Amino acid sequence: MRKPILIGNWKMNGSLHSNQALIVRVLARIRPFCKTIDMAICPPFPYLFQVRDLLGYTGVALGAQNVSCATSGAHTGEVSATMLAEMGCRYVLVGHSERRSLYHESDNDTAARFRQIKACGMVPVLCVGETLKEREQGRTEEVVERQLRAVIDENGMAAVAGCIVAYEPVWAIGTGRTATPDQVNETHRAIRQFLENCAAGAGQSTRIVYGGSVNAANAAELFQSPEVDGGLVGGASLKADEFSGIGAALANTVTQTDSSCDAVDSFQME
Ligand code: PEP
Repeated sequence: MRKPILIGNWKMNGSLHSNQALIVRVLARIRPFCKTIDMAICPPFPYLFQVRDLLGYTGVALGAQNVSCATSGAHTGEVSATMLAEMGCRYVLVGHSERRSLYHESDNDTAARFRQIKACGMVPVLCVGETLKEREQGRTEEVVERQLRAVIDENGMAAVAGCIVAYEPVWAIGTGRTATPDQVNETHRAIRQFLENCAAGAGQSTRIVYGGSVNAANAAELFQSPEVDGGLVGGASLKADEFSGIGAALANTVTQTDSSCDAVDSFQME
């Protein structure tokens, strides 16, 4: 079984004061289900230290929003994977659509960043997704497969074991417009099949989460499909009631017999 995971992406939001209040409120609300699902919070870099301390031993993991493709040295303004690992990050987002579109990070850049994350023993959360134009042209599967293939070509299929794929249609991120459950289901199934074709077992073992305007009101519907292993949540992760409501909806998808499920970190290579 794949253990569901909920990841909050704070983007470029927060302050020392508001972070503390938000984390305290989130932790108080998630207590009933925090062992049923995995949870992580990805604050901006300057707040990693603060959020790590606030999360303590609650079981909610720390994540980062991006990483440099270089290891160290003359890269002013960059943050290395070694630094993130030292800060206690378990997850790192890579290839988020805002990075791809606003900061021109290519498929190859994404693959190089993915390599750095793996080299430091952290879990990449690889974001893939199509623009509205690409969806209207019927190219959704072609686009996500191209984005996945770039990472596999650079890192090999073995490196994909244990990573998380986040399907995030660009037109649904921060827009208030979500993909329909059918669209999510269809694309997740295509991603799983693509991974399975690359290596037996990879499709079944990889957690694929959905992101794009998830909130407490639409989460149950979006998470109902067994193809959906959780969510990557931006705006709603900044509100304790919303984020914990999404977590509760995700935990409700786990039956009693599933509750000992865990992510599979390896699969049989063909
Ligand atoms: C995201 O930042 O990855 C995201 C899905 O944002 P939002 O939930 O605000 O659409």
